[in-house]
Amino acid sequence: MDKSAINQIIKNQGFIDFKWIDAKEIVVAQWVRFKCMFGYESYGAKASCPPEVPSILECREFFSEYQRAILIHINQKLDKPEDRVQWGKGINDQLLKVEKEIFLLGYRKAFLLFMDECQLCKDCSVVRENCHYKKQSRPCPEALGVDVFETAHKFNFPIEVLKDYDEEMNRYSIILID
Ligand code: SF4
Repeated sequence: MDKSAINQIIKNQGFIDFKWIDAKEIVVAQWVRFKCMFGYESYGAKASCPPEVPSILECREFFSEYQRAILIHINQKLDKPEDRVQWGKGINDQLLKVEKEIFLLGYRKAFLLFMDECQLCKDCSVVRENCHYKKQSRPCPEALGVDVFETAHKFNFPIEVLKDYDEEMNRYSIILID
């Protein structure tokens, strides 16, 4: 595996804080799905989020098919909460370019998990089959049951529960690759 070429692809898109990790260390938990179903106002609002995603059992199987992953840390402080959608869309667009370039290097299994829920369209189709950008949309780690807090802490990355919008966010994207 040409890690230096892949590292350069990631850096070229402006991501400088990332680590190669053992994909088996990604923590997947049923409680993450429950928190999404009960207590998250966007549940059912996106065609790449629950319930339009595989079960936690299937997600576990999916992750088990990979040996390696890249955990990308993205931190940002926003002036206004409403800026989050546009910022997330921009980051996810850059991440898609990274996934595409890695794929074109010959890593056919490369699979991106967006940093944030899919924001490619203003009006989401909600239903997966009707997604307006089936080729580009990806789930975020939480949508596949990833316990992002525990996974990030395992690799000494920062992440805490935020109490206010003016606090700095520590967000994570994952690229699975073999
Ligand atoms: S691409 Fe558009 S329709 Fe598909 S999940 Fe993303 S926002 Fe929804």
